[in-house]
Amino acid sequence: MAISYQLPRAQRIEMQMKRVALKGAFGASGIISDNALISFLRSALGLHRYPEGQVFLEKGAVALKRAVAESNAKCRNKLVDNLFLNECVTGQKVRSHISRQIGFELPVLLVISPTMRCPLRCYGCYSAQYAKDSDLDYVVFDQLITEAKSLGIYFFVISGGEPFTYPQIHELFRKHYDAWFMVYTSGITLNQEGVRKLAALGNVFPCISVEGFRREVDERRGKGHFERVMQAFGNLRRMKVPFGFSATVTAKNSDLVMSDEFIEYYSEQGARVGWYFQYMPIGREPNFDLLPTPEQRIERYHRLCGLRAKHKILLSDFWNDGPIVGGCIAARRYLHVNHAGRVEPCVFCQFSIDSVYEKGLLEILKTSPLFAAVRKKQPYNDNYLRPCMILDNPHVLKEVVEKTGACETCGQGAKRLVNDLYSRLESYSRRYGELADCVWREKFEKEYKETLKIEHEIREKYDDGGIGEETAVKDKQPKNTVISPVKAEG
Ligand code: SF4
Repeated sequence: MAISYQLPRAQRIEMQMKRVALKGAFGASGIISDNALISFLRSALGLHRYPEGQVFLEKGAVALKRAVAESNAKCRNKLVDNLFLNECVTGQKVRSHISRQIGFELPVLLVISPTMRCPLRCYGCYSAQYAKDSDLDYVVFDQLITEAKSLGIYFFVISGGEPFTYPQIHELFRKHYDAWFMVYTSGITLNQEGVRKLAALGNVFPCISVEGFRREVDERRGKGHFERVMQAFGNLRRMKVPFGFSATVTAKNSDLVMSDEFIEYYSEQGARVGWYFQYMPIGREPNFDLLPTPEQRIERYHRLCGLRAKHKILLSDFWNDGPIVGGCIAARRYLHVNHAGRVEPCVFCQFSIDSVYEKGLLEILKTSPLFAAVRKKQPYNDNYLRPCMILDNPHVLKEVVEKTGACETCGQGAKRLVNDLYSRLESYSRRYGELADCVWREKFEKEYKETLKIEHEIREKYDDGGIGEETAVKDKQPKNTVISPVKAEG
């Protein structure tokens, strides 16, 4: 028996009408111009709460329109129904309804790494440092998705390890036919048979990792890998499955992956979205030589603005897009569940108190002192270009970890960030902070003054998870917040 949290009847009817209108608009999107689509979205959904977020949203809608036009019928319907209508329209309404009752924001997406197994050995990848002998139990995985959907969350990012090596992954995608799955993959399983399965499912959007062209990809992932990626792209194009790329930005490839040439090449291959992930010095063997320098990072910000304006592809940078999403989204707008079921504030913040083997998702969100402490601290400063708890605000990470007693989830690695690596992180954050503050003052400070004031007022009302008191985690009692669940068949 699953628990679902229903909207009041009047709101359900309103949502249904909105869905019908938007579905009709999507049906006609092939024949309307980009500008007309943007005007329609503004009037139907209103403006985004962060000014930069509006630009991103509109770029996203245009990229989505393009992906819809190029997809096979199954993928097209799932894109519109699951990602747009379930996650962004109905799900958003359910999430804000519940958020009002529990007193804090519910995540808009979950990142789940069901396995850490991967046949590749790429340098700088943290998955190699996890145990390979335990995957997330299928029943627990399934329950997690079921509960998330009942909370209005329909968007799941599946990471790892290589997600397609998880034995029941297609079964899970099939069962949750109404959810949307974005999968970070090396592409090694996306041969004809692998892509045929995705074409039949329709609700899976693969993002294939690339760090440059042939030389760079083969150097990081092994000889011949670039060729396999090209074949995967070809299979996806032929079977009309929309897809994107993801790139780990290091000090070595920063210029290359932020170049017009790189974007043009992968856009021509058919990628409609591109995600940039900065190399992070985490795990047991962090390599600070791979971490992009503060100068490279700020340069990356400027280049991304230029690339976004120029190319018809949705580009996103997890570290430099703070102004789009209101700073760090860890423990607030997203969280990470690893292969052992440990729940972390974000993929790179490998600390945890709770497990999905022991508690449901909503219970964890409501009672975790770690999550409460992280949420309460956000925004960590008044510059959304310095969002990261690990790189830009290491003192915040140190404080929440020490005060909540959170355990590291990656062997003996994560605690190094708050111990022997702490002073290196501090000096990185100082230098990057100087550069980012200049850009912020020039470009955003005035525009974001009111937004930041509101954010601080919201956070004032949040529970702090006990970090204001000298209370040990084991002595804390869960706060009991009631939100009237409705039992539903399932
Ligand atoms: S802690 Fe850093 S890496 Fe994690 S969500 Fe926040 S900004 Fe991103």
